[in-house]
Amino acid sequence: MSKLEIKNLKKYYHLGNKTEFLALDDINLSFKEGELVSIVGESGSGKSTLMNVIGGLDSDYNGEIIVGQENIKNLSNRELDEYRKKKIGFVFQSFNLIPHLTILDNVTIALTLSNVKESEKVKKATEILTRLGLEKQIKKKPTQLSGGQKQRVAIARALINDPEIILADEPTGALDSTTTLQILDILKEIADDGKLVIMVTHSEKVASISSRIVELSDGKIVRDEVNNGYTKKEGSLLEKSQDTTSIKNKKKSHLSFLSAIKLSFHNMWASKMKNFLIAFGVSISLVSLILMLSFGSGLTDYISSLADQYTNPLFVTISKRSEKDASGNTHLSNPLKPLGFKDPTEIDNLMNDINAKLEEAGYEYRITDENVSYGFNQMVYGSAKFTYKVDDDGKYDENGSTDSTHDIFYVYTTPPYYDESNMIAGDMSGMNEIMFSKAVVKLLGMEKNEDVIGKKVSIKIPSMHINTENIVSDTLDCYPTISGIVDVSNMFENFPVIYVSYDYLKALVDYANLGAEDPIDFYPYSIYIKTDSEETTKFINSYIDTLSNYSGSVEEQMVSMFTGMISTFSTALTIIAGISLIVAAIMILVVLYMSVTERTREIGVLKSIGARRRDIKNIFSTESLLIGLLSGILGVILSMVVGLILTLVLNSVLGFAPLTFKWYYFLIAMGISVVISVLAGLLPAAKAAKLDPVESLRHE
Ligand code: ADP
Ligand code: MG
Repeated sequence: MSKLEIKNLKKYYHLGNKTEFLALDDINLSFKEGELVSIVGESGSGKSTLMNVIGGLDSDYNGEIIVGQENIKNLSNRELDEYRKKKIGFVFQSFNLIPHLTILDNVTIALTLSNVKESEKVKKATEILTRLGLEKQIKKKPTQLSGGQKQRVAIARALINDPEIILADEPTGALDSTTTLQILDILKEIADDGKLVIMVTHSEKVASISSRIVELSDGKIVRDEVNNGYTKKEGSLLEKSQDTTSIKNKKKSHLSFLSAIKLSFHNMWASKMKNFLIAFGVSISLVSLILMLSFGSGLTDYISSLADQYTNPLFVTISKRSEKDASGNTHLSNPLKPLGFKDPTEIDNLMNDINAKLEEAGYEYRITDENVSYGFNQMVYGSAKFTYKVDDDGKYDENGSTDSTHDIFYVYTTPPYYDESNMIAGDMSGMNEIMFSKAVVKLLGMEKNEDVIGKKVSIKIPSMHINTENIVSDTLDCYPTISGIVDVSNMFENFPVIYVSYDYLKALVDYANLGAEDPIDFYPYSIYIKTDSEETTKFINSYIDTLSNYSGSVEEQMVSMFTGMISTFSTALTIIAGISLIVAAIMILVVLYMSVTERTREIGVLKSIGARRRDIKNIFSTESLLIGLLSGILGVILSMVVGLILTLVLNSVLGFAPLTFKWYYFLIAMGISVVISVLAGLLPAAKAAKLDPVESLRHE
């Protein structure tokens, strides 16, 4: 019974422009097991084409190829993969070992593709490698072997699945004559073991040791003769365990996820520097992402902690939101020029409104004139100044001869709930008194906070026409006295911020308005309501929240003060993070594409061994997954380091570090890294899977 039958085989290559080239012309051949066949013929006569068709690498032909009882024309792609894996062993002229795998892993690759257990793989491979005299080379890489050794490894790889047919395309073409003989001996032994060995050779000498010679010329058989001198030794190389089950009935197993990881890992390890650099590149974008998130929440946390610190539960603070904008959104007022309560009846109406609500809800408390007070604050940096006399050393001196002038950053009126606990030194201010932030201590050339108390300075706030030096009055001083140092937030510690009482500020404006051509319209920017309990405060606050043009929460007001700053920062960071993530994805895409090109031959080998498209896709997808994971881990570690350094630096420079790292930011970064890597890997993986095996094997 014949092992392989070829009937009326015709193979056309399609050359485009509808021209076709007939590479195999009506081939009829029948081979039995135990034959060692040499296919000879001129270059271009169709030998390799014939091998590829028999091996199931090329299924675009006319005619029949019958292996055992099975016409391989009738096999599905999936079954054809299985056919290559189980029934065929390929040996190539250029060995085609996978360079980054050890000899053992090269030999077991076909078993790996069938998801065979590790111990069984090692046992089988060691057995075959030992028979081929390679037991000492198991741990080496292909580059560490001689040509003859490499070809023996390739033979071991072809034998590992105990195939019925060995196809060797010029297996000795790259070897010297001594090694050639060794390889031929091995091939002969394999045939003697009962397998069908078909080899292509150029050399008549090589052909002469085989049991049968078939010669092709221009795609036709011109000679088919049996070598009568051929002697057969009885099986010596391998134990017989031939499995002749039909491919259709075979249980189909495939590459496991774990093995895909192992294969990808080996490959990545082979070019570790490259992969590390990509991962490093991606991780930088992850760092900016994590920092952006941490910065956003850090600032919010910081501001709400400030708000908590400066909020008194017995006070409601009301400020105005600006009108609705074109898109119908209301904004908190601009910190540079807040909206105020210009019209006193507006305040009355609002208070009455709240009182009505309080009554409705059954509260006893009512707002009266006694428990309402006003506030004003404005960012005045660059226009407002404070001035004092200095001595020759530039230190504060009331009798000094020159002036020292400094910018004021912010003007605040002291909220009614401020008390000694809000002071670093000195007392709360009243008429003709001001309070400063700590920054002023340095400006005045003083050492201790207490030393500043009692010093006199003049104040200029041009936007309010205030210039205390011009004052000629019984009640208002030209030089208000510094009564204390306010514990402003860390954020303001380094800026000169002044605090005055609302009444004093109003008196200064009123004085400036006397006889002025363009009197300043001074009105409160915020209203403070003293309540009787925390509960009442909450009730009033929640009512104000329902009003679109008022804001009741101090937190919201403080956040609004920094909205500009926060949104500029986080928009910039988001854009940077976004762009760099796109760049990272493209980088991964390019690198994986290059990897596919570099590994074209390897893909061809894997396919000839029986890897399915899915297996190839999985190997490459796993690689992109690993790059994603590696980048993610690197990104997390880097952002922890950068975050720590940034926190230390900010703390020492600003006195606070608005960075809050939440554990899920790292998870998000990790997730994004994996997702973009896997997405970027899809195209290259699909490309790899689609490669034509015959062309890939010819790839240089
Ligand atoms: P051999 O292995 O005997 O040297 P091949 O089987 O490789 O010859 O090629 C047989 C003929 O088919 C040659 O003329 C070759 O140019 C042609 N051929 C091989 N592959 C292709 C292909 N992919 N497209 C077109 N022609 C091809
Ligand atoms: Mg050839």
